[in-house]
Amino acid sequence: MSNHLFDAMRAAAPGDAAFIRIDDTRIWTYGDAFALSGRIASAMDALGIRPGDRVAVQVEKSAEALILYLACLRTGAVYLPLNTAYTLAELDYFIGDAEPRLVIVAPAAREGVETIAKPHGAIVETLDADGSGSLLDLARDEPADFVDASRSADDLAAILYTSGTTGRSKGAMLTHGNLLSNALTLRDYWRVTSGDRLIHALPIFHTHGLFVATNVTLLAGASMFLLSKFDADEVVSLMPEATMLMGVPTFYVRLLQSPRLDKQAVANIRLFISGSAPLLAETHTEFHARTGHAILERYGMTETNMNTSNPYDGKRIAGTVGFPLPGVTVRVTDPATGLELPPEETGMIEIKGPNVFKGYWRMPEKTAAEFTADGFFISGDLGKIDRDGYVHIVGRGKDLVISGGYNIYPKEVEGEIDQIEGVVESAVIGVPHPDFGEGVTAVVVCKPGAVLDEKTIVSALQQRLARYKQPKRIIFAEDLPRNTMGKVQKNILRQQYADLYT
Ligand code: ATP
Ligand code: MG
Repeated sequence: MSNHLFDAMRAAAPGDAAFIRIDDTRIWTYGDAFALSGRIASAMDALGIRPGDRVAVQVEKSAEALILYLACLRTGAVYLPLNTAYTLAELDYFIGDAEPRLVIVAPAAREGVETIAKPHGAIVETLDADGSGSLLDLARDEPADFVDASRSADDLAAILYTSGTTGRSKGAMLTHGNLLSNALTLRDYWRVTSGDRLIHALPIFHTHGLFVATNVTLLAGASMFLLSKFDADEVVSLMPEATMLMGVPTFYVRLLQSPRLDKQAVANIRLFISGSAPLLAETHTEFHARTGHAILERYGMTETNMNTSNPYDGKRIAGTVGFPLPGVTVRVTDPATGLELPPEETGMIEIKGPNVFKGYWRMPEKTAAEFTADGFFISGDLGKIDRDGYVHIVGRGKDLVISGGYNIYPKEVEGEIDQIEGVVESAVIGVPHPDFGEGVTAVVVCKPGAVLDEKTIVSALQQRLARYKQPKRIIFAEDLPRNTMGKVQKNILRQQYADLYT
């Protein structure tokens, strides 16, 4: 019997190699982690969990929580991690939608979650941030040897809900084959080896921290410093012992605010990676000036794992997400006709490859609508491929502004605004306008003490942008609304300013 993803993980490192570093004294070896995953798998089996059953998990980040993911793979269950920020009402939706057999939550949440889980026939067990709780109580006396369920490349390993940036989160069905193929590709593309030590400061309920960071570490037999959250000071302190960092763009913005970040602090680091949201070209440039490192930006999504990456050896170009990964095909099509566009032309990004998910959980119509007849996934992101083959993301299809019949790509306008002295960042949105359909509107965050007003920004843009692209109104804000992955929530801004022109 074979278990497609877990067999590869188990084969990647000797039992005594370090896997998860909590601090200097607490290190989980691969052997420790696999033994506990066997005990948890045995306990889940005793609870009646069978291959294909969903196991929903809403717990704080910990080594035990990651090992629980391995236990799910071994039982053949479908791992279903949930954002720790979700409220009981939101949990009700996910539990109703996914119908898990088992739900694992923090001990303090047990009572509340039982009231919503029981009507759906789910069992509730607990796991706290320190590893305590009913799950490990059950696992303690179980055997570490577990006969792994037989799972093929096409069987589901996880259902991961999308971040909900553009609407209600959708459950993406990911197979053992999707996860293994992508992790192996990334491992090789980024040259990750057993000598690497990753700083892991991302949440583990999202594709970035769970699959990119964890699966790649496991398949390289490498180790990681598992931090409960991102703290710039703590990350800088760890750098001399680490070789890699994976982050969302806000990590890099905050690292740059630390006076301790300099060439000496990063002397041991081999690779800085960014993804999940666009990295401002300015951040890339500043980071390079300060540390000598060109951040490697890559592009992916819950539904597809990673699609493109800037090169390891070649030029890492700010503002681009690099080349399609080996085995992944990326094309750009005209959203109106679906026909492929030549280089340099902007359109819909479509993706095909072993990384692409099986479909949205219990949404066959939505799944059918998001795939082309020749099997490409329609990503919802707009972009272009330049003459050198680098992919550029210009924004989401849903964020495209159509004003007076013209298409305006927010990123182009944001790029011009961000260059104005005193501006930190901006978000360009379209809101209903009686004459133009949508009015181009900019929400701008200024540096403390900057004296900027609407007129200064509008006149600075007059030289740089065609008239139809120029914002009709500039709104100043303290900051931009972001979700836990650091993504700007333009839907919130659109709602907030919906009546601006009426
Ligand atoms: P939802 O689909 O529920 O609206 P979401 O798309 O934000 O939420 P994720 O799957 O977490 O959920 O995010 C994938 C999206 O993140 C991509 O489609 C893309 O828009 C954006 N993204 C990821 N990496 C990058 C990057 N390097 N540059 C620009 N955008 C990125
Ligand atoms: Mg999405």
